[in-house]
Amino acid sequence: MKAGGKRDWIFIGAVIVLVTALHFLVLARHSPLVVLEELYYVPLLLGALRFGLKGALVVYVLVSVLHIPFFFGEWTASPIGVADRVLHFVFSGIFAFTAGFLVDRERRKREQAERERYLAGVGMAATTIVHDLRNQLHLILGYGLRIQKGKGDIDASVQVIVDSARSMERIVHDVLDFARPVRLELKEEDARAIVSRVRDLCAKKAEEKDVLLSLDLPAEPTLVMVDGEQIQRALVSLVNNAIEASDAGHNVVVTVARRKTHLVITVRDHGSGMDKETLERLFTPFFTTKKGGNGLGMSIAKKIIEAHDATIRIESEQGKGTEATLVVSYEDKRKTG
Ligand code: ADP
Ligand code: MG
Repeated sequence: MKAGGKRDWIFIGAVIVLVTALHFLVLARHSPLVVLEELYYVPLLLGALRFGLKGALVVYVLVSVLHIPFFFGEWTASPIGVADRVLHFVFSGIFAFTAGFLVDRERRKREQAERERYLAGVGMAATTIVHDLRNQLHLILGYGLRIQKGKGDIDASVQVIVDSARSMERIVHDVLDFARPVRLELKEEDARAIVSRVRDLCAKKAEEKDVLLSLDLPAEPTLVMVDGEQIQRALVSLVNNAIEASDAGHNVVVTVARRKTHLVITVRDHGSGMDKETLERLFTPFFTTKKGGNGLGMSIAKKIIEAHDATIRIESEQGKGTEATLVVSYEDKRKTG
């Protein structure tokens, strides 16, 4: 079970205990406040909202068992009392089943819509990718033919061919990287060195857009157990996005900060920022708002980050900019498996 799921079960359990305590107080004091038992609808609703039909039914069984003492004693002294108790079981059962069923149906609908959007994205991305590859291929073919016919400057033609082939290689790499599982080669590395390499790799792009790319690094070595190449890849995606979202004159800052148990790397830009929909779909594979984007950068970055048991958080405000925060534990993951 995921940690979040466990926490929510504990919370629901605590609510049940609390309601039961109140309920039994009523029983012990022969108080007429039987209305307190209506509070059992709270954990039933929580179970349904969080865990769907399964959750609602589990809570129902639990709550029903806790309710059994009320079948004895004065509560069931008359036939009406018995009917009242039985109806209580029936109503809360109907409620649990209906709430759980509706939550599950809503979830299924949402998943279906998400799948459809994903497939539409895949279709669009496949078209974009094939177009990109075809454009580069045309360049290679065109300049190859020029060389063959002895036309134009050979060096310049060769450069175009090499650049186009590199660009094709990048596209192919992105698609393959997205498709295959991340395999980590963990090694102790200085985060400052990784971030410096990222700066070097992104410097040209920043310069072309007249964006100021700067680093804010600690003075001491900041060793961390990671696959440096992969973290570098993830950071390059984040920094490239930050540069692409920025206008001329804006700055993009990558910060490395040491905390007691973990390392925090942030990429901050003052560019376009994201609207709500973009923010929600940011990590959806093939989701892009860019002409010529493939929408894989953030998905690959997330895969890499999660493979490291690290986390990424994005805060963004439209018109103000975006901050991506990466939190990596210093812990040696090889020891903990
Ligand atoms: P791509 O860059 O190819 O579009 P990504 O997966 O890298 O694909 O990013 C997905 C989308 O998320 C982008 O198209 C963009 O709309 C949005 N995005 C990501 N980072 C930023 C950022 N720093 N500022 C604004 N928008 C961003
Ligand atoms: Mg990108």
